Amino acid sequence: MTETKLKYDGDQGSREKVFLEHLIDSIPEAIAIIDNDGKIVIINREFTDLFGYTAQEATNRLIDDLILPEEMKSESISPEIIAAEKHKLTRQTTRSDKYGKRIQVSLIATNVLINDKVVASLGIYRDISQEKKNEIIQEILYNISTAALNQMDIKDIYPTIVQELSKIWDTSNFFIALYDRKTDSLSLPFFSDEKDKFEKVPARKTITKWAIGLKKSVLLKVNDLKNLENSGDISMVGTPCKVWMGVPLIADKEIIGVMAFQDYHDEDKFSQEDVNVFEFIGNQIAIAIQRRIMIDNVIQAGRKAEEAAASKQQFMSTMSHEIRTPLNEVIGITNLLLQGNPREDQMDFIKTLRFSGNHLLTLVNDVLDYNKMESGKIEFEQARFNLDAFLKDIMRTYSFRSKSKNLEFDIIKENDLPAEVIGDSIRLNQILSNLLSNALKFTQRGGIHVMIKEIERKKNNSSIEFIVRDTGIGIPKDKHEMIFESFTQASTDTTRHFGGTGLGLAICKKLVELQNGKIDVVSEPDRGSTFRFVLSFGIPESGSKVEAGESNESYSGLEGKRILVAEDNRINFFVANKFLIGWGVRVTHVENGKLALEILEKENFDLILMDLHMPVMDGIEATRIIRESEKPEIRSIPVVALTAAIMSESHDKIENLSINDYVLKPFKPRDLFEKILRNIK
Ligand code: ADP
Repeated sequence: MTETKLKYDGDQGSREKVFLEHLIDSIPEAIAIIDNDGKIVIINREFTDLFGYTAQEATNRLIDDLILPEEMKSESISPEIIAAEKHKLTRQTTRSDKYGKRIQVSLIATNVLINDKVVASLGIYRDISQEKKNEIIQEILYNISTAALNQMDIKDIYPTIVQELSKIWDTSNFFIALYDRKTDSLSLPFFSDEKDKFEKVPARKTITKWAIGLKKSVLLKVNDLKNLENSGDISMVGTPCKVWMGVPLIADKEIIGVMAFQDYHDEDKFSQEDVNVFEFIGNQIAIAIQRRIMIDNVIQAGRKAEEAAASKQQFMSTMSHEIRTPLNEVIGITNLLLQGNPREDQMDFIKTLRFSGNHLLTLVNDVLDYNKMESGKIEFEQARFNLDAFLKDIMRTYSFRSKSKNLEFDIIKENDLPAEVIGDSIRLNQILSNLLSNALKFTQRGGIHVMIKEIERKKNNSSIEFIVRDTGIGIPKDKHEMIFESFTQASTDTTRHFGGTGLGLAICKKLVELQNGKIDVVSEPDRGSTFRFVLSFGIPESGSKVEAGESNESYSGLEGKRILVAEDNRINFFVANKFLIGWGVRVTHVENGKLALEILEKENFDLILMDLHMPVMDGIEATRIIRESEKPEIRSIPVVALTAAIMSESHDKIENLSINDYVLKPFKPRDLFEKILRNIK
């Protein structure tokens, strides 16, 4: 409109016209006023800026001839069309400028009405190409990073990259090259080219390699390429192109490759702005690829760690089982030797042998236990037991061991504890024994005190706190958490000085926590240690009596009883047999469950001692068949199981078997005797 500006001549009408011209020139949207024939009457400055036509060039021309693209002629907008939309039409569409370049615009077209008659219409255009482009770029980035996260295989993300980039550029000459520094070669996970075909090429003097060295994006036109070739920086592989646009893929400051577009016809195919956008997308792609590689690494590391853990567990389990069998034999034989009135000088050796055997067995059982807990295969018994009797047992064992180290030992009950509780006494014993053994081991002077207190009582439930306090070497504060982890000790020379594996506390913690309890320690070097844990127990309804652990000092009551021993291990049988015969029992021996069933059909027995692990037919299967027998005298026969550990994998099966009792191997003669006596017919 600048060129058609009217001079201000002082008259009122012209004055308003100048104001109007000024106003529409100041508006930042392109505006055209069009008469009823579709011819342009006035345009503003922004129209010139956007479409390239001066006012002179535009005035009196058909607006459709000027800016409506050829392929859109059918979409011409007439005053009638505008009228049909209540004289105001809004749409997002495309127009072209003087040079034919397509521009995405938002268009508002209105009719100018005088006395309800259309006298002209107004077009207001806003350039939204950039907005549109940004939207597309966002979409591209989103799709590429989603693909990078979701694709199982990194290779599968390259087709997505190409498909996405094709939304803004022509990808018929496009490639992604990954650079391998070690072999100085380029692999091409994606390569599309009108003229050439490559899959893997030595990087040497390619443009790609040159761009890798440059570490930034480049736009090279014919002349640039020629110059580079003349200076020896590159030597062309394949057909020379007119323009080359490439961006590096940089992950973790390392260049992992290059993405590039080429064109063989038009050296102006790509602009610096394209390079900027391409570089931005390239960075995001590199991040997506990098993230994908990282995730793959983490997944792989996780898988390896799992495999390693599983094989470690398997190894420990197998080893422990393997060691346990001969160990049971050694301990069994030692027990026998002790029974046989050895000479005074032999007694010491045999006792040491038994002590070491038992110690080794505890270690092996610890490892097995820990593995079981790690793999979550542990169940807790809910059986009724007498707390007083339980504590007396602990007292007996540890006061003796403390005395031999000249340490005080006491158990203090701080308030009224329930006489009987429901819980897993074997596990409780295991926790306390671990803590007490540590206390004994790490204390040279003073003593060990156990304190027990009920801290809360609800109807059928009692929370009981157990404290084990010693006056030993103590533990530095920064080690308090660590010592509860498996295979860790407070100091690296602990094993040298005191022995141990670092499993005890880890087991305690697991055992306490699996029963929803808590364990912690308060300790300082040289000031002793206090371990504390709280467990909750059920309280039985009063009335029914607990099975008292009444001890029978003599071994009488089994004389003349008939016991069938099903045990495949000869030495175990040998040991058991010695004791049984000593107690006056008539023993019959079979080597597996199948033979046991056969002999039961022919002879009567008062009880079966059944090993659970046997070849041909194990004790579990045999007991199941016995319990289903049609003959009442077979069905009701008491079965006492011999098992290597309470946690053996068959524990859950034992529960359903109505086995009357079990004796842990290596059996203590008193334990074996009492369990037989308690259950025999
Ligand atoms: P282990 O005793 O077999 O080494 P634990 O898991 O039972 O394994 O104990 C881990 C470590 O915690 C011990 O090696 C020791 O350093 C420290 N510790 C445990 N109990 C005590 C204690 N009562 N006094 C001092 N240090 C202890």
